[in-house]
Amino acid sequence: MKDLEVIECAEKVRRYCVEGSPRIAARLEELRALSFRGRPDVFFKSRLVALALGIDDSLPAGKRELRRALSRAEFAEHFSAEELTGLHAREAEEPYPAIAIAHSHDLYASLGYFSATVTPPGEDSAFSHKLEEFPNVHEAARYLRQVFPVLRGARAYEFLASVGYDAAVPENPTRRFLVRLGLLKNFAATNEGNRELVETIARVARLGGTSASEASLLFSLFSGARRDDDVEPLCLTKPKCSICPLRGICAHYASHGAPEPTARRKPIKEWSADDRPREKLIGGVKLSDSELLAIILRTGTGEKSALDLAREIIDRFGTLHRLLGASPMEIASEVRGIGPAKAAEIKAALELGRRAAEPEADDRAGDQPTVASSAELFARFRPRFQTETQEHFVMLALNTRNRVIREIDVSLGTLNMSLVHPRDAFKHAIKESAAAVIFLHNHPSGDPAPSAEDRALTRRLVESGKLLGIRVLDHVIIGAQRYYSFADEGELD
Ligand code: SF4
Repeated sequence: MKDLEVIECAEKVRRYCVEGSPRIAARLEELRALSFRGRPDVFFKSRLVALALGIDDSLPAGKRELRRALSRAEFAEHFSAEELTGLHAREAEEPYPAIAIAHSHDLYASLGYFSATVTPPGEDSAFSHKLEEFPNVHEAARYLRQVFPVLRGARAYEFLASVGYDAAVPENPTRRFLVRLGLLKNFAATNEGNRELVETIARVARLGGTSASEASLLFSLFSGARRDDDVEPLCLTKPKCSICPLRGICAHYASHGAPEPTARRKPIKEWSADDRPREKLIGGVKLSDSELLAIILRTGTGEKSALDLAREIIDRFGTLHRLLGASPMEIASEVRGIGPAKAAEIKAALELGRRAAEPEADDRAGDQPTVASSAELFARFRPRFQTETQEHFVMLALNTRNRVIREIDVSLGTLNMSLVHPRDAFKHAIKESAAAVIFLHNHPSGDPAPSAEDRALTRRLVESGKLLGIRVLDHVIIGAQRYYSFADEGELD
């Protein structure tokens, strides 16, 4: 798309969203005024919580919800009483529902970053100065993904935008909109795809004379990624081209025209009993992923049956693993007809499935099992790591009878010498008086083949173990379908 058309596009979207909506105009003003500079730690910490819980606290109801969430006991060690008083979080409210915190361990680990770099309450956060050091938004996002486990993929950009860094948020409906317009080619929701999307929005903002965060908000309202009662989204899964002001410059409209209105679909309850997913399940028939998901959804919308919705969800996320890794708000924003409540039900069902695949609690606590083989370790840790996007390095401390005394998360992030130091790994083993240890880490790529760095680290760990008199029994790399055991391959001697 030529520069002049980009300017026309930016202006038309702005006019469409802002005209007749003082609320959107006010939100744009707020965005302009927001700044991360000179902010205290509590500002960044509360942003992390809001993001992890999918709370939009730009609205009064969202502010109340965030205060309610922060009044949970779990946040006590991460927020001082002074900070909470400043946020008015000590309100007598209903407890916040536990289901909303699906990745609580990631969230608490992220909040722990601030505890480790304590800035006295009331003073500028050292983190706000750190943010200023990065030459561009992508470097800042890369750093955030390393230090905050909760900020996976696009969430790093979302966090930056929410603290006042001038950043676009890569949301999938906006991606679809820009692809249709002909402004963007890469449809993949990968780090590379997100980077391209953020740069495309930055280009539109530059040409349109606005900031990237403003352009991002307007595009997400136009595409339905974010909703506001004052703005009817137009470029949805089924685009409303016939009333869209961008028809004259849209590549999708030029080649496809406006879509035909769809006829009402029969709801599942009007199908023959043999075709209904629930009846099929009761009858012992093996169901597809979409049919199982349709049972959880129960109802569809006016235009789509529950099965149509389920198929759309599976199509959007590609695999159940990716769906399991998405937050309820991501699921809700991805598929029209799925609200936060239904998205939470889907998450709950998938989480139950994941937990059911884990070993029985008796195997993990109390009378701990002996570790018999690397295959056993793979079976035990694979469900835990299968949706992880970062490397986790875990140590199992064992007693003289090879029973696991303790499992310790040594580090998180790209595995290298500086992140996993033998001193850190073995200090826990010494504390537990362990006779032997086993190390494990995952490869988010799914390929367990060891890198040169993995091999060098293993050698150092084995040497350190010898010096300390603690045997290193194995180092197992967990992949998606396979694993690699340094002991099985004879590489520990
Ligand atoms: S014309 Fe249709 S496809 Fe193009 S931007 Fe507008 S709604 Fe989307």
